[in-house]
Amino acid sequence: MYVTLKRIVSQLEFQIARRLGTREIVSEDGTYKTPFVCQLVGCAGCLPEGAFHPDGTLKDEWSHVQPGKWTGDVAEFEGLN
Ligand SMILES: [Zn+2]
Repeated sequence: MYVTLKRIVSQLEFQIARRLGTREIVSEDGTYKTPFVCQLVGCAGCLPEGAFHPDGTLKDEWSHVQPGKWTGDVAEFEGLN
């Protein structure tokens, strides 16, 4: 399990060209050192693709979320498909 996790983290680190560490990817208590995905990967602040309708308009469920202030937690995406 740990070997697989290390491989996944290594691939993510390679893809975004940044060091992460397993603590940023897996949490035992639901908290992460870096809470927002954009901050974690060095993004200036966006919203996830799933926050938009196919025509590019923002879904109502995401209207209260500021760009860069989403965590990527599965709960954020429930019911958005
Ligand atoms: Zn972003």
